[in-house]
Amino acid sequence: MANRVVVVGGGVVGCAIAAELAAAGISTTLVEARTIAAGVSGGSLAALVRHFAGPPEELPFVLDSTALWAELAPHLLAEVGIDVEFDICGHVRLTERDGDDSGDTPAHLERLVDAERAAGLDVSVIEASDIRALLPLVDTRVIRFASWCPGDAKINALLACRALAAAVCRRGGEVVIGEPVLEIEAKDHWRVTTPSRSFEADAVVLAAGPWTPNLLARLDEQAAAGLTPRRAQCCATAALPPVIGPVVSKASVGIGVGYAQLHQTRHGEILFNTVVPSTDPRLPGGELDATVDLAFLVTSARTLARLFPPLRSVRLLRSWAACESWTPDQRFLIGPASAHPGLFVAAGDSGTGFLRAPLIARLICDLVLGGTPDHDLASYAPGRVGLAGAPS
Ligand SMILES: Cc1cc2nc3c(=O)[nH]c(=O)nc-3n(C[C@H](O)[C@H](O)[C@H](O)COP(=O)(O)OP(=O)(O)OC[C@H]3O[C@@H](n4cnc5c(N)ncnc54)[C@H](O)[C@@H]3O)c2cc1C
Repeated sequence: MANRVVVVGGGVVGCAIAAELAAAGISTTLVEARTIAAGVSGGSLAALVRHFAGPPEELPFVLDSTALWAELAPHLLAEVGIDVEFDICGHVRLTERDGDDSGDTPAHLERLVDAERAAGLDVSVIEASDIRALLPLVDTRVIRFASWCPGDAKINALLACRALAAAVCRRGGEVVIGEPVLEIEAKDHWRVTTPSRSFEADAVVLAAGPWTPNLLARLDEQAAAGLTPRRAQCCATAALPPVIGPVVSKASVGIGVGYAQLHQTRHGEILFNTVVPSTDPRLPGGELDATVDLAFLVTSARTLARLFPPLRSVRLLRSWAACESWTPDQRFLIGPASAHPGLFVAAGDSGTGFLRAPLIARLICDLVLGGTPDHDLASYAPGRVGLAGAPS
């Protein structure tokens, strides 16, 4: 069991882990290179959608994690006074009549919905009249079929990270920002060095998102090789009156090219994106290119206008890009890394890190405390077979 832990990375995953460790009474220091949510977390749509989150065998993980978000949201409001805007708004998943949703057939959707229902998710295939009732602005002529998951939710990405970081401090931990970790050394204990400080610890948790391989490479080459950065982009409209209630996604299987997602925030902005092919964002020196593509903007705006014709003339307020961390099997790395005891990894989000962060935090905390997590982590093990290699 570790008494002093350093968590590297102030995204949603690192903040959730540090908050959980601090709640367990462990002396916790969260070290962030820039500021809280400066990485992919601050650029996230932060939809908590369990339907189509992955193969049905992943459902116990995401069901437990979203249940934890539902507990955490009021708890954080009471503890640190931040409303993270957790809303159970439901999720409509659409397949377009003439889109690139190749491979997506009614039979495929029905099989998936049946499998997810059997695994405990409330989800169903819906008719055109139901789609209109849920999304009055949608053009049902372009929709082939749809499904509805009433318990799916959304959250405010920035507020969620800030609330978790505030909870770390409230629980007696330390949050250090503006200090990039330069070196992590294994001695009889761990030493974590930044430009102006060094921290001694019994355990270190690497939650540095797409930058994790930079820190991990010298400690566990095999685990580091499984992580590849991938650029994801997003747009926001100017604030509108409430016009879209649920999260909406449009997809064939998985979060590949052609996948689109949108929702309207409590403040009226519609956040939306469509995934387009993207180049390798790795720049010399270990930094990542977060430039927005014009092709992305055009494709995303066209998708929005095609699905919701009345939104054709809305004003685009801003757009941004961020790099996610991908693994070949699109599963996180969660667990101990390297030959040295006391080094843990929680990275490789593959586009679903908000959904999974609270449960990842609980599992890492169990491991740090020397307990046995109540989810089987074999398929998430850092350095697992088949991990190193090209991203899918
Ligand atoms: C457009 C978009 C839409 C998305 N939509 C969803 C969604 O709807 N639902 C969902 O679940 N997920 C979604 N995601 C994915 C989700 O945002 C990520 O999975 C999640 O934010 C990953 O969090 P993280 O903490 O692992 O990484 P990050 O947020 O990247 O955090 C890593 C942190 O480590 C810091 N760091 C890096 N190097 C160092 C160092 N040397 N020392 C100290 N700190 C360091 C970085 O500054 C950064 O703050 C989306 C992502 C994008 C971009």
